[in-house]
Amino acid sequence: MRVVIAMMKHETNTFSPVPTPLERFGKDGPAWGLDALAAYAGTATPMGAFIDLARAEGAEIVTPVAAEAWPSGPVDDDAYARLSDAIAEDVAKGCDLVLLDLHGAMVTESHEDGEGELVARLRGLAPTTPIAVALDLHGNLSDRIVDNADVVTGFKTYPHTDMYETGQQAGSIAFRALKGGCRPAMVWGSRPMLPHIMRQGTADAPMHELIAAARRAEEEGALAVSVFGGFPHADIRDAGLSVVAVTDGDHEAAIRIRDEILDQAWSARHDFVYRSEPAAAAVARAARLDQGPVLLLDHCDNCGSGGTQDVTAVLAEILRQGLEDVAAFALHDPAAVAAMAKAGVGAEVTLPLGGKLAMPSIGRAGEPLTVSGRVKLLCDGEFVIRGPMYTGVKVGMGRTAVLDTGKVEIVVIERHHEPWDLGCLRSLGIEPTAKRFIMLKSRVHWRAGFWPVVRHVVECAGVGVTTSDYSALTFSRVRRPIFPLDSDATP
Ligand SMILES: [Zn+2]
Repeated sequence: MRVVIAMMKHETNTFSPVPTPLERFGKDGPAWGLDALAAYAGTATPMGAFIDLARAEGAEIVTPVAAEAWPSGPVDDDAYARLSDAIAEDVAKGCDLVLLDLHGAMVTESHEDGEGELVARLRGLAPTTPIAVALDLHGNLSDRIVDNADVVTGFKTYPHTDMYETGQQAGSIAFRALKGGCRPAMVWGSRPMLPHIMRQGTADAPMHELIAAARRAEEEGALAVSVFGGFPHADIRDAGLSVVAVTDGDHEAAIRIRDEILDQAWSARHDFVYRSEPAAAAVARAARLDQGPVLLLDHCDNCGSGGTQDVTAVLAEILRQGLEDVAAFALHDPAAVAAMAKAGVGAEVTLPLGGKLAMPSIGRAGEPLTVSGRVKLLCDGEFVIRGPMYTGVKVGMGRTAVLDTGKVEIVVIERHHEPWDLGCLRSLGIEPTAKRFIMLKSRVHWRAGFWPVVRHVVECAGVGVTTSDYSALTFSRVRRPIFPLDSDATP
């Protein structure tokens, strides 16, 4: 038995000015062939689960590529062609099963639906071969991907701590189908709604209740039921909330499950609307909290959703209000890192921090912040994730510097990295539990590692292309009317 297993992941923020060339897909670009197998075997990812399943079956495993890039603007056509060609070439050689670890919100320069395009192409090459796909909870589903796959599953957690289980679910169903053990009947559907990312955490209502309904349907016999919150910052026709239901041959049951959960989501649409607190008021409120660690969440500039990670609005407010004993993660600024590397550990420096990239989609120029401090640490920025999200994966932040102003330790990195694992600070010798304040550029994924160690959470609305203020963004391609852009939208 020959099984093709591949990963091609990108959450595309069409409002982001950050480019997405091939080199962005991994520390040294994508992992090809056996390097892909070596990089992801044993990891808590869908690809890791696919590899385990195929090994248990004694299958021949072919891994054309494993590629994941931090969210950013539309994927370069050339990068998309290289990745999808590699997968298509191995499928074209003949195989018994295709297992794909995709995101679901990839937009390329030429395609609104990068994954749908890939899966349709593979279906054309292998018309009768089962294709199973594991997606991110933020996938924007489409006919193209669902019509051309046999099984689609999505994460049930945000932060995404069930990546392995999601791959295991899709892969197990595909292997069973291959052996005649089940006949997947899959339907999908959506409602015209764009839930705010800040309201999609699965510990909170209404996402918690929707996921519970999906799990209940699985306990009652459905093979897989997935709720996708969608990714609103991909301004494409099909962006938004959707549900995929897979049953064992019972098409009517799949439709019923899908529609019940979609109706439940539509009824809860007002609870998916996020209302933000301006940074100045939020930081002042945080300063009055007497017990730490207090998390200051800079959610409008999250590189995990396509932010430039170099907007200094919240950091500037923290410095202006004089907060002390703060760790700030992180500013993306390769030039500042280079300047600090040149100055050396222990040197006193004054430099322009951040603000290197303009953000035309929200009408903002880059605004560097001049900061003085001591270079406390320089390192290669590599560490292994302890979990519970992406456990076992080695990540690289590029060369990393810590600039200590005396009150704030500012982490400055060469490569984008969202702080979801305590290792991002501990690998730099900063103990998060000992800090009074921790500033993180994240939206919900920080919860994976940091929630157990922070006492208070203060959400600070700064500036950036991951803003939850939809009035700051010009949507031109998403289908209209859609809630909450249009309050009169109907299901
Ligand atoms: Zn996601």
